[in-house]
Amino acid sequence: MTQLIDIDNINSFKSIKDFTLDSINEDVIKTIKNLNEKTQLEPFIRSCIYDLNDTPHGPTEIVDILTTKITYKHKQSFAAIIIKGKSFKTVKAKDISHQIYRLRKIDGIQISILAYTGNILDQPMEEFISTCHDIGCDYSIWNDFDLARILTSEGFICPRDGEVIEGNICKCGYKPVKEELNIFQEEAIKELDINHKLKQKYGLVILPTGAGKTRIAVKDILKQKSSLVLYIAHTYEILYGAIREFKYEFLQDEIKLIKSKSDFKNLSRINLVTIQLLRENQDLVNNVLFDYIIIDEFHHAAAKSYLKVQQELDYNFLLGLTATPYRADRKDIAELCNNNIIVNYELRDGIDSGILSPYHYYGFFDDINYSDINYNGINYDVRDLERALIIPERDKAIINKWQQKAMNKSTIGFCCSQKHAERSCDAFNAFGIPSKTFLSYTSDEERKEIIEDFKKGEIKVVFTVDVLNEGVDFPFVECLLFLRPTETKRIFMQQLGRGLRRFQGKSKAIVLDFIGNFINAYRIVEYFGLSPYEFEEETFVLNRDLKEKNFKSIFNLPIGCDITFDEKVINVFSNQIYNKSNINRHNIYRILIQQYLMLCEKIGRRAKWKDIDHNCRIGSSIYKILFTNIMHLNKVVENELKELGIE
Ligand SMILES: [Zn+2]
Repeated sequence: MTQLIDIDNINSFKSIKDFTLDSINEDVIKTIKNLNEKTQLEPFIRSCIYDLNDTPHGPTEIVDILTTKITYKHKQSFAAIIIKGKSFKTVKAKDISHQIYRLRKIDGIQISILAYTGNILDQPMEEFISTCHDIGCDYSIWNDFDLARILTSEGFICPRDGEVIEGNICKCGYKPVKEELNIFQEEAIKELDINHKLKQKYGLVILPTGAGKTRIAVKDILKQKSSLVLYIAHTYEILYGAIREFKYEFLQDEIKLIKSKSDFKNLSRINLVTIQLLRENQDLVNNVLFDYIIIDEFHHAAAKSYLKVQQELDYNFLLGLTATPYRADRKDIAELCNNNIIVNYELRDGIDSGILSPYHYYGFFDDINYSDINYNGINYDVRDLERALIIPERDKAIINKWQQKAMNKSTIGFCCSQKHAERSCDAFNAFGIPSKTFLSYTSDEERKEIIEDFKKGEIKVVFTVDVLNEGVDFPFVECLLFLRPTETKRIFMQQLGRGLRRFQGKSKAIVLDFIGNFINAYRIVEYFGLSPYEFEEETFVLNRDLKEKNFKSIFNLPIGCDITFDEKVINVFSNQIYNKSNINRHNIYRILIQQYLMLCEKIGRRAKWKDIDHNCRIGSSIYKILFTNIMHLNKVVENELKELGIE
């Protein structure tokens, strides 16, 4: 019955597997031996086990025994822990006799643990074990090395220098990574390992923004023991982000940000550089053999400067990281990596798997007359847009919606130009909402400050144009303002991706979109399935499929997501698809359903064909083609009608 439980088999401490016995150095052991059992060891252990069930006994009630729940053999068990720290250089029988006596009096112990940092004599050890046999409980014995593994893996002690970590970061820069890898990362690392074994030279990781691509590279480099690494991106923001990730696993002086020509002379183990600076100085590293090169935001790789780097530098392995593999580019991108795609997951997979936050999207009507704005067939004229979008009434309406839906939430506002961003920022500030702009001319110093203040909540809204579309992200952001017309799916997806990073206390991203009658506005209804392809997989085609379909599946929404449009926005959409050339199977169902729901809400009951003909731009004849009869239509929107209070 009674079993000796090895510390590696205790599920409560599963992260110790990354801190093996031989990874514990002398400095750590020295610190462990000096920990006070009452003021340090016990609270440390208590907080890494965190007993959610509030075990009724506390150490004050039972002499020097910590009682708590731990999980081993995948079962929660009631544990009693005897802890002997620096006051007991050698644990003698008399030092634990009273605790052993008390062990027998505690009801229901399933496992007893003896933890000590110094030496222990045979006699007390034997007495402890035989007591466990008498009680009929399992037991585990932790010495200084075991405690070192627990406390380093749980982030209390720095595994490099043995310092006790305060404020979640050691003086040396080490930051404990308690966060576990997500399933995408785990899969990527596993796949990369196989690819290295097969001596592949290229790999491409396609993961949505926020799924932690850089961490994959960091872990892989660590695993491969690469000694000369080059990390390339096109902005310093991306490099700063990458440095933060590298610091989790590498020492400060192993990491080097290359900022000038002279920095190329003494390369470190991990070197980070912008593509621009690298290209200017490429002759300095043309004869260097890199173990590992990473190109972040690899969808830029088709650009000439990246191609040159890829063709001219010498390396054993090149890893491309990207979030935006739009079909138009994907073929080329994959080819650049020898078609060796390591993992390929989209935003949708991220939300469905819980790795990314779901979104709640609101499409508000924006009273801008886009027909007055010059359009060149691809974009609107920016000067015209500025004139149309920068108006006080619009600002007021936007602030109003923000206060209703996302009051005081950290927010990014996407604007059409720098001027637009500056003016929007002024408007929010004038309204007493502390805001800043984050633009291409914003200095590094300012950026750092903004990020800090934003994090602390001292700034509520940050306005930007497209700097944020790639690279920089604020995981804590909970609200996105789409303040310019979302002219393409690419823009929509990139902006949306900025809000989906998971963060403590964040349950969803709120998206406030302001939609006028801009060209292609109706296409917004096509974007919600989050497929990066130009044309989504069909959600359904034939009427007979309708029986199993509902509102959300027709919109193809990821789990936990929601969308709402203003009635006037639906009018904009239906006006636009009234032009038959705009209709396709990806938008027509969605717009018809929205129009129908709006009508039901307006008249307070289920609408009939004649109600539709009487009230709507798109008449019942189109509905009949797609839904055959009104029963089908009602079935599809049943839940939505219930929510509207319509039976
Ligand atoms: Zn340290």
